[in-house]
Amino acid sequence: MSVLESFGSALLTGNVKVIDLTHTLDPEFPVLVLPPEFGQCEPFRIEEVSKYDERGPAWYWRNFSCNEHTGTHFDAPVHWVTGKDVPNGSVDTIRPDHFIRPACVMDFSKEAAADEDFILTAEHIKVWEAEHGAIPADHWVLFRTDWSKRSGLEYANVREDGAHTPGPDTSAVRYLVEERNVHGLGVETIGTDAGKGGAFDPPYPAHNILHGAGKYGLQCLRNLDQLPAKGAVIVSTPLKIKDGSGSPLRVLALVDG
Ligand code: MN
Repeated sequence: MSVLESFGSALLTGNVKVIDLTHTLDPEFPVLVLPPEFGQCEPFRIEEVSKYDERGPAWYWRNFSCNEHTGTHFDAPVHWVTGKDVPNGSVDTIRPDHFIRPACVMDFSKEAAADEDFILTAEHIKVWEAEHGAIPADHWVLFRTDWSKRSGLEYANVREDGAHTPGPDTSAVRYLVEERNVHGLGVETIGTDAGKGGAFDPPYPAHNILHGAGKYGLQCLRNLDQLPAKGAVIVSTPLKIKDGSGSPLRVLALVDG
């Protein structure tokens, strides 16, 4: 059998399982809130057009609208100023094979439970690699914090002094990009950067360094606790929005059954 015949068979027999890493798009789902002097990200909105009624007797459909960075979503290189000139850097021009890539999952859920401002450093990644082996090139790195199990105000976790959510520091992002040439960084929080990431050097190092290097981001993931440290394959295909900086999407993980 060819590789794909084997794969198709494994999907049907359950030897390959599909795990949904996506939150439901819902008007209540939190979005990133920026300081008031900046433009704001609109939440998901929905309006009914007809539902088997006088507006359309046999059909049901709705209009929806949202920001490109609403719900579980993909960040393209052009999202950040450092990535504005990356070739094929918007969601409509990214190479389609880049939407299917293997992943490493780093579990720092205990650390994030103990410290809502947990900062992932290069040293943490090296400790993970000592146990699991080096992160191979062109793999997603998915940062498990179990943050997806929070809801409501505790999810964005913004207080008067700003957001309190875990994320990487500059050393971690540089290590992933420069030493490991990763495909991108996926997180369970609203942004790939920590809540305090604006105070780092450079500010928002995940956005700054990843996108400047043509790497990608995935945010608001869930079910990372169902994935192995190595061996999952991620399918993440954003909407083909012209010049899109990102897009809500369905993110699926394929794992051995
Ligand atoms: Mn985003």
